[in-house]
Amino acid sequence: MNKYQDALNLLKSWAKKDRNAYSPKHLKNINDCANILQEAVDKTKPQKPEFDHDDDTYKCPCCEKEYETYYNGYLKKFCSECGQALDWSENL
Ligand SMILES: [Zn+2]
Repeated sequence: MNKYQDALNLLKSWAKKDRNAYSPKHLKNINDCANILQEAVDKTKPQKPEFDHDDDTYKCPCCEKEYETYYNGYLKKFCSECGQALDWSENL
């Protein structure tokens, strides 16, 4: 969990609690917006890059942008292509 996920969960719980105050169309719009925000929140949760043994590169788990060891972006906290937070802790 992080503060962004906590905030989104809180908004969703409020909408759920007051669901009788909204029309079905309004509830669908709230749900659609929550799903879009979830995608952004997920980018803030560090994910481990995947090592590709064929290319000897690390790849972003979200968009598969390649990072060569010790070059262009290795150990970056965020993917320069898609913004995914990266966790290099077990790749050192
Ligand atoms: Zn990426």
